[in-house]
Amino acid sequence: MADPSSLRVAVVGGGPGGYAAAFLAADLGMKVTLIDPEVNPGGVCLYRGCIPSKALLHAAKLIEESRQAKNWGIDFGEPKVDVARLRSWKESVVKKLTGGLGQLAKQRSVEYVQGRAAFENSNSLRVTKTKGGEESLNFDRIILATGSRPAVIPSLKIDSPRLLDSTSALDIADVPKTLLVVGGGYIGLELGSVYAALGTRVSVVEMTDGLLPGADRDLVLPLHKRLEKMFDAILLNATVASLKEEKGGVRATFEGKALKEREKVFDKVLVSVGRKPNSEIRGLEKTRVKVDSRGFIQVNKQLQTADSAIFAIGDVAGEPMLAHKATHEGRTAVEVVAGHKYSFEPNAIPAVVFTDPEVAWTGITETEARAQAKQIKVAKFPWGASGRALTLDRTDGLTKLLIDPETERVLGVGIVGPGAGELIAEGTLAIEMAALAGDLELTIHPHPTLSETVMNAAEVFYGTSTDVYRPKR
Ligand SMILES: Cc1cc2nc3c(=O)[nH]c(=O)nc-3n(C[C@H](O)[C@H](O)[C@H](O)COP(=O)(O)OP(=O)(O)OC[C@H]3O[C@@H](n4cnc5c(N)ncnc54)[C@H](O)[C@@H]3O)c2cc1C
Repeated sequence: MADPSSLRVAVVGGGPGGYAAAFLAADLGMKVTLIDPEVNPGGVCLYRGCIPSKALLHAAKLIEESRQAKNWGIDFGEPKVDVARLRSWKESVVKKLTGGLGQLAKQRSVEYVQGRAAFENSNSLRVTKTKGGEESLNFDRIILATGSRPAVIPSLKIDSPRLLDSTSALDIADVPKTLLVVGGGYIGLELGSVYAALGTRVSVVEMTDGLLPGADRDLVLPLHKRLEKMFDAILLNATVASLKEEKGGVRATFEGKALKEREKVFDKVLVSVGRKPNSEIRGLEKTRVKVDSRGFIQVNKQLQTADSAIFAIGDVAGEPMLAHKATHEGRTAVEVVAGHKYSFEPNAIPAVVFTDPEVAWTGITETEARAQAKQIKVAKFPWGASGRALTLDRTDGLTKLLIDPETERVLGVGIVGPGAGELIAEGTLAIEMAALAGDLELTIHPHPTLSETVMNAAEVFYGTSTDVYRPKR
């Protein structure tokens, strides 16, 4: 086994995959260089993804809740939004976090090079520095963590400040009167919710027959119902055929069945139709790294590419494109570089949509199980029977367990409702620990909490729930 302290390691990309890999490698004694174009580590997640979007969604939730409070006899009046202050608060959160990562890099003696890396060969990188100049650096191992960028539809690409992607939408340059969101995936719905809460009339166009394609329909339904009230329109089975800028807006034409309107003018248009891996790294062809047909760098369970000196992690190495998956892959790659017996084989990777209500799932979904003709039993606990949900005036939630009927092992958990993103962690732990539904049923959960609904769903599975009534057959 190589002595880690003799290893020189480069990490290309400073997102949640890259900085986690760089910091752990330094902690294990390696000499580490972290390369990223930004002034501090953070990547998409911290600068223009998870963190700024969640700061804005928190503000959006507060606005919506203040309106709902009227039902409980509390009237705050109509919220007044100072967009400039909201923007600078969001930016201060990003600055605090990324600045903190810069400090942590220094404390660990990670060499941080602000620039863009290209390959000279499998062990050598040429870095074009952001502030000018170039440098060639040699390494024993290189970890690629170059992430992803918004996908573009070439036919909808117009040169106009009215056309937004997730990055420019997060800047909230202003609050447009109307916004068309192209794509009903999680990024479009999260950002659409932010703008709707700020007062924009939002329309969403989704080409499949439901929002959040791939997610279980019973989890999406409560979100769909709430968004129907928040948004101007949700057009399903529909596509945007063209966008054309004209005086005062962008004219969008729609295609699809059962559409009331075939075209409409919007102040702004946000295209959020997925993300593309950043695998077009200059000089990559000088290595043995292989890229698949979707643009992901091919890796094995040790995150090693077809070139033994090069690893790839995070969004550039495959789905799901999520920050926590990137971090865990980064940690695995570093352990492998250090010569430890490690592999990335999670039983469950949680996914969370931070809308209101939040939608979260982990392990197998019902949709996947049905597609694979896998035998599962589904136990659902509706939040209408949860005391805590009633105290929050949010009975629109649902917690469900997907259980192996033979072994009673928990294979998947799905939750919709406020706080689902926090609650889903218990589901992931249950799956990783090979918990049985009985383990969840017998684990005492605090009352009154939404976490009880996980235990309650297990009770439903055994027919022992005292919170819902099932007539005896
Ligand atoms: C609006 C939005 C909201 C999101 N919300 C969530 C969420 O709530 N939860 C979640 O889990 N995920 C979320 N994501 C996804 C998440 O941001 C990504 O999964 C995550 O950032 C991937 O991390 P990564 O380390 O692979 O790369 P990234 O974070 O993409 O970072 C890659 C870095 O590499 C740099 N780079 C690229 N090429 C080079 C090069 N040649 N040389 C040097 N540096 C290079 C890039 O500039 C970038 O800084 C969101 C994404 C968006 C856009």
